[in-house]
Amino acid sequence: MFENLSERLGSVFDRLSRQGALSDDDVSTALREVRTALLEADVSLPVTREFIRSVQKKATGQAVTKSVTPGQQVIKIVHDELVNMLQGDGPAERLKIDNPPAPILMVGLQGSGKTTTSGKLARRLKERENKKVLLASLDTQRPAAMEQLAILGSQIGVDVLPIVKGESAVQIARRAKQQATLGGYDVYILDTAGRLQIDIPLMEEVAQVRDVAQPRETLLVVDGLTGQVAVEVAQEFDAKVGITGVVLTRMDGDGRGGAALSMRAVTGKPIRFVGLGEKSEALEPFEAERVAGRILGMGDIVALVEKARETFEAEQAERMAKRFSKGLFNMNDMKMQLDQMMKMGGMQGLMGMLPGMGKMAKAAETAGFDDLMLRRQIALINSMTKKERANPDMLQASRKKRIAQGAGLDVAELNRLLKMHRQMADMMKKMGKGGMMKQAIKQMM
Ligand code: GDP
Repeated sequence: MFENLSERLGSVFDRLSRQGALSDDDVSTALREVRTALLEADVSLPVTREFIRSVQKKATGQAVTKSVTPGQQVIKIVHDELVNMLQGDGPAERLKIDNPPAPILMVGLQGSGKTTTSGKLARRLKERENKKVLLASLDTQRPAAMEQLAILGSQIGVDVLPIVKGESAVQIARRAKQQATLGGYDVYILDTAGRLQIDIPLMEEVAQVRDVAQPRETLLVVDGLTGQVAVEVAQEFDAKVGITGVVLTRMDGDGRGGAALSMRAVTGKPIRFVGLGEKSEALEPFEAERVAGRILGMGDIVALVEKARETFEAEQAERMAKRFSKGLFNMNDMKMQLDQMMKMGGMQGLMGMLPGMGKMAKAAETAGFDDLMLRRQIALINSMTKKERANPDMLQASRKKRIAQGAGLDVAELNRLLKMHRQMADMMKKMGKGGMMKQAIKQMM
């Protein structure tokens, strides 16, 4: 599945991976190739555009994580966006089949794999969810299709509504409902007739059946190999009949797979299952993470980037802890801490995160240690020179005045900052001895 797309993206990222730093131009070049690959995989133009736009937005200006290449990092962003696009608002929810007997309406074009999928779904519900399932074929035009379902049912040990010659689809739907109610079935699956292409009589018949059956789920079965056509079919069925989900069949082949990418974005309907072969067990729930991984064929890199980020942060925490415990806590460190505090929702947010800090937060508040003060302190540090930040003890009265002026504040404020810095440095030194420091720094990252 998705072989072509995966290979294409692979060679793009190979080139990226070998480069050191990632410029705007590099990102643009790479994304142009991603764009071509997506279009060639039959993802629709508007969906592709939207996708590229959002990857670009996320890739530009993102800090490069140590120990992965920028190319690898772009892959991670592309991966996350793919998941986003495949998943829509959230993971595909479970089928709504409480309140027995729950009707499921299967719709789609002829040859899409509707009958096969009805059987697969019946088997799945029976074996995995312990449901009593009834299958019914509504394809009055093609006796062979009715036979096919009857054979399938006996193979998987699921009851099939007996065929009564001369009945209309609506009549069969009524009989199925009756039978399901009387027979104590949990679910009954209605396999509607398909046509080779969408036409008005087909839609009218399906709509009539829908009105009679009042299905809990209407699943559209589409051939995943047909790409853009599958998306158009889905739009049409959704407009005329209303669908609750999609099953993409033939995802075992090496098709272009663009359908999966566009489907969710264009129709807004979740892909519930994918068909992965002709056998009755070849049906799997759709999982965006897994499909995105397969599209990229680079799941290992995604994991690597995540790991690298964690390692980097751990290393940084370790380095800082070592310095602090030696009493090396200068104004640069302090500014970093203050910036970090602001990023984490200011004083209150930060204290809330650290266990046992509730009391300290109250004390800090009464001492006037609030977000405004954080901002003032950051401004004071900003108006110091590099040397002064590294060694704040060197500050003379005249410099103090200039620094305070530069930040638009009083010298008293600066003295408060210096005092606090000394206290913090002392505290860090003490904490460092107990090993608590590393933990605390890690929490703050
Ligand atoms: P219907 O006309 O929509 O009911 O389509 P069928 O269920 O009769 O399927 C048409 C053909 O597609 C059959 O030969 C199936 O075995 C095959 N088929 C259905 N689903 C899949 C699938 O997920 N993968 C593969 N490889 N073949 C499938």
